[in-house]
Amino acid sequence: MHEMGLMDAVLRTVERIRQEQQLGPVRKITIEVGELSGVVPRFLEECYEAVAAGTPFEETELALEMVPGLARCEDCCNEFRPAADVLRCPACSGEKLTPIAGKDMTIKEIEVYDPEN
Ligand SMILES: [Zn+2]
Repeated sequence: MHEMGLMDAVLRTVERIRQEQQLGPVRKITIEVGELSGVVPRFLEECYEAVAAGTPFEETELALEMVPGLARCEDCCNEFRPAADVLRCPACSGEKLTPIAGKDMTIKEIEVYDPEN
């Protein structure tokens, strides 16, 4: 499961941002997961619990937002949203596909507790 490494990297990044911007405890982390990223959201959630345990992120909520995948066929330039495991152009059945959206996992938002409260 490479989700463990990904989640570890996410928390390191968030912690670095938190320190740079001198933010308080993090309330919620929102992550965008591309449909073509190969990342399994369920694994991500499970790994998050394991990675966050015993750290300042133990109480931090993790929110995942799926980003639709989009691929382009190099043979006919058709752009389409590929189905889960069918990596084939629906127009010409071509298999030379380039992912053009939804292939990354990115940190979208970090919410911290309001210091006034
Ligand atoms: Zn095609």
